[in-house]
Amino acid sequence: MQDMVRRADPALIDKLAAERDLTDAEFLLLLQQEDPGLDAILFSKAREVRERIYGKDVYIRGLVEFTNYCKNNCHYCGIRRDNHNAERYRLSGEEILSCCEQGYALGFRTFVLQGGEDPYYSDEDMVSIIRSIKSSHPDAALTLSIGERTKESYQAFFEAGADRYLLRHETADPEHYGFLHPKEMSFERRIQCLSELRSIGYQVGCGMMIGSPGQTTEHLIRDIRLIQKLGPEMVGIGPFIPHHDTPYADEAPGSVQLTLRLLSIIRLILPEVLLPATTALGTLDVKGREKGLLAGANVLMPNLSPGSVRKKYLLYDNKICTGEEAAECIRCLGLRVETAGYRIVESRGDHISRYQPN
Ligand code: SAH
Repeated sequence: MQDMVRRADPALIDKLAAERDLTDAEFLLLLQQEDPGLDAILFSKAREVRERIYGKDVYIRGLVEFTNYCKNNCHYCGIRRDNHNAERYRLSGEEILSCCEQGYALGFRTFVLQGGEDPYYSDEDMVSIIRSIKSSHPDAALTLSIGERTKESYQAFFEAGADRYLLRHETADPEHYGFLHPKEMSFERRIQCLSELRSIGYQVGCGMMIGSPGQTTEHLIRDIRLIQKLGPEMVGIGPFIPHHDTPYADEAPGSVQLTLRLLSIIRLILPEVLLPATTALGTLDVKGREKGLLAGANVLMPNLSPGSVRKKYLLYDNKICTGEEAAECIRCLGLRVETAGYRIVESRGDHISRYQPN
């Protein structure tokens, strides 16, 4: 294998697949090329690796968006504190549990509780919600995605039964992080949270938006380096999409093709990673989620939130699947997955690690 590939050609993709790594200069070439033929080779290599580990199985995670109140003011996000046009809602513990009941009957074995950073839910409230979900469905995995909390809170949620935690790092470049977020937030704190979650024993997910304002290819390479260093069980990536009531209302959305390229690269550097084809990808392109699956993604996260609140959890404009009921959603997704040549399975869909005893 030559030391340094100077052109974006198939040899670069072979090298990435064989060594699970490239130099920064090579990643730059691969990310910046615009050759559909080369992308096709990249996607098919990622697919091959995904199928070697996960076969044709697609895991589904039932997303319960239980609050859109948020104390943060991230410049990109539609539920930021300063968006006074957002119609706010909170689900009660019973409502959350009933979403999970419904999801369980539909075959879901992982639930994701996601929300804005809403201190209304105290640690005791979260612990009681987590306990009740886990005692009703001991065979299901529970993922939290509720932002930055103290290590003590993370510990209490873990002890109550939460298994996994999604906290996108958003961008691995501290200066870019500062650009996307209000000054009271910091990249250092974000990384500290991720490391605390990991040390407590959670399966951890990080990730970033593709094409967020100010993002450069160099930033994406830093993201790749961070993902390699952290070795997360999950990586959530999706294109940035503007929201009309945010400072980024007039910014351009991220590129679907570049998002697919990143999905494939992440699959090739971390073969066993759990990688969702996100709703944001499906929002920018009607076939976005299918394309994601065909570029190495192996997870889908359909919405289990009650129909009445779905339109209110609007992180970005034109979000899809806000009108459907859970049962409809899963039927539609089942068909989409089939078209891509895969199948939805009823499983917790744990991260497969070669180092696990069984
Ligand atoms: N409050 C939680 C959950 C945030 S919502 C937390 O901080 O982790 C989940 C993800 O949606 C965010 O991490 C962000 O990457 C993504 N997101 C927010 N606004 C978006 C936008 N305008 N376009 C695309 N993705 C967005």
